[in-house]
Amino acid sequence: MPDLEKATLFVQNRPIHFYIRRSSRRRTVGITVDLQGVRVAAPKRMPLERVVELVSTKAPWIAQKVVELKSRREPRKRFVNGESYPYLGRRVRLEVALSPHKNPVALKGNVLEVRSSDPRSALESWYKARAQEVIQRRVELYCQELGWKVPPVLVRNQKKRWGSCNAKGELRFNWRLIMAPLELLDYVVVHEMAHLKVLNHSPRFWRLVEQIMPDYKERHQALNELGPGLYW
Ligand SMILES: [Zn+2]
Repeated sequence: MPDLEKATLFVQNRPIHFYIRRSSRRRTVGITVDLQGVRVAAPKRMPLERVVELVSTKAPWIAQKVVELKSRREPRKRFVNGESYPYLGRRVRLEVALSPHKNPVALKGNVLEVRSSDPRSALESWYKARAQEVIQRRVELYCQELGWKVPPVLVRNQKKRWGSCNAKGELRFNWRLIMAPLELLDYVVVHEMAHLKVLNHSPRFWRLVEQIMPDYKERHQALNELGPGLYW
């Protein structure tokens, strides 16, 4: 496992925390700003002060990225009539009735009917159930194409990650993926499935992802841009 160091940089008196991942393959310092925060990839033996110094030269860019990511968030949800929600990349409009119903959520065209005294949890349960159904189906489809055995698929409330794969070969997915377009959901499906063969993010892993999904880079990028908007 590569070492993971933590460092902090101050930009206009605001702390920006970041992780540094060391790699003997790297010759330069690379910075990524996304939903998971600020991550820095650095050469194995570069002194920490040098890494922090290089990152600090990019501080204005990092600060701007952080602001951009925040601005892409959905407006605070209130779970009331007329609000718009993302679902598989399209927008659906909420219609809320507070009288409980045995079928609390139903999607009719572009209208999402919620009939519950607790619209928020009714809506989240509905999203989770749809996520389980759709992600399971996509995993099965890719497994069928590749001739792989179908792994257990679990949909969870993951705070920051889109998915994960453990050594037991269980795939976990963030239910919020169901709000993203299917092509982006598929990227996470393929990414986690590739971990069934290669557990790390080595070049061999990325070659496998590319083999299954040649345009994965574009999808990954699009998901990074859309991602923060899927958190309410
Ligand atoms: Zn991964």
